[in-house]
Amino acid sequence: MDKFMIDLETDLEVMRECCRSGKTKEASWRRSQLKGLQTFLKENEVEILRALREDLGKHYVEAFRDEVGLIKKSLNLALKDLQKWMSSREAKLPMIALLSHAELVPEPLGLVLVISPWNFPLALSLEPLLGAIAAGNAVVLKPSEMAPACSSLLFNTLPNYLDNETIKVIEGGPAVGEQLLLKKWDKIFFTGSARVGRIVMSAAAKHLTPVTLELGGKCPAVLDSLSWSWDKEVAVNRIIGAKYGSCAGQACISVDYLLVEKAFSSAVVELMKVLIKKMYRDNPLESQSVGRIVNKHHFLRLKNLLTDKMVKDSIVYGGSMDEDSLFIEPTILVDPPRDSTIMTEEIFGPLLPIITLDKIEDSIDFINARPKPLAIYAFTKNEAFRRRMVSQTSSGAVVFNDAIIQYAADTIPFGGIGESGIGNYHGKFSFDTFSHYKAVVRRSFLTDFWFRFPPWNNYKLEL
Ligand code: NAD
Repeated sequence: MDKFMIDLETDLEVMRECCRSGKTKEASWRRSQLKGLQTFLKENEVEILRALREDLGKHYVEAFRDEVGLIKKSLNLALKDLQKWMSSREAKLPMIALLSHAELVPEPLGLVLVISPWNFPLALSLEPLLGAIAAGNAVVLKPSEMAPACSSLLFNTLPNYLDNETIKVIEGGPAVGEQLLLKKWDKIFFTGSARVGRIVMSAAAKHLTPVTLELGGKCPAVLDSLSWSWDKEVAVNRIIGAKYGSCAGQACISVDYLLVEKAFSSAVVELMKVLIKKMYRDNPLESQSVGRIVNKHHFLRLKNLLTDKMVKDSIVYGGSMDEDSLFIEPTILVDPPRDSTIMTEEIFGPLLPIITLDKIEDSIDFINARPKPLAIYAFTKNEAFRRRMVSQTSSGAVVFNDAIIQYAADTIPFGGIGESGIGNYHGKFSFDTFSHYKAVVRRSFLTDFWFRFPPWNNYKLEL
């Protein structure tokens, strides 16, 4: 065993002991850690925004909206509702258990591992972390090595605000991740790719560890021509905002591709061109509002998608790149071949393929022929179509007439299905994800039904 594993085992043993002692179960411990997170955000806001700019070129406003602001909101909710979340819930029992009482008692799972990705390196580390803390767990957080400024801030500064016996940040890449996965956890909460999700799930199976997998995939947007009236600008603006305006399309819930009716596609493209220019001006390379691609590897991956000879003729807007600054212009493609890589793999960048269909209703079959997405966005005023979209497709979420906003809600579960993930979180759902609801039944010694016990007689048989 190398030194990392020996030190890790020592740390984990202390953490397990803290769980056994009941330290992390105390409401006062949970509250103080959540408040520690609040103070971390308050005292380090400038450094956090700087780190997000350094890693991903995020504009301060975008970084605050998508990361710092959302976590502040989640912390406020957790602190406000903690007592309610921690309380047990009464449950009814059948007649056979006359004079009894049952309740569901939430208990922490114990020692949990959170592995986070690089695209929202702060939010996707702290959102599960705060859920795990609220539920009373000891936590090891491993942020992504691919957002090094954020990972280093979480590693070096966050511990100053938290109980270091029970909450640890470990830096590293896949090799460290794999070593962590060798350990026995009470829960693994993973956000990242389906490829690594499979590695996590196989490792967890060895110890029967429950997992939450927040994965990605291709989220379709459907723009119904029936709604092609006064609200067209609103719809198109929201689509391009969701595609290009959040981490340059490097978001799991970004619009991956757009489905429209053939007859409307050129009008859609023309409107998009106008609205993209309005957002990023004539020279997007100079715009402070365009996020950067995370690194050279992903830049080249996206470049290959665009320069693929099956695809390059379908570019109708954008397509320029600057490797030095990892910039890719917001780009639109129309009808790239359906078997090209851009249409078979998650794009995760500012490239928007538009697929034209004869009828917008065909979008349902198109979506159903592919893995279940994390979200479907449908822009329509047609109530019958809306109902069909909900009842005839399967996805983590369906959002009508907007995109991405579902992430900001703490009253609905956030998570995928099938290839897009297992389990969910946000708000109270985060607390539930990191809790076990123990059934506790108390029975009086009085009163029993005679037919519960042998000897069995004929009357019982006739029943
Ligand atoms: P990734 O799977 O490459 O990495 C995620 C994390 O896993 C990182 O911390 C990484 O160091 C770690 N890791 C990598 N290999 C590992 C291994 N062999 N063993 C253990 N840990 C390992 O994903 P990424 O590139 O960071 O993120 C992009 C993906 O994440 C996209 O598919 C995106 O859709 C998805 N995503 C999903 C959500 C969501 O909430 N559903 C949010 C953001 C990103």
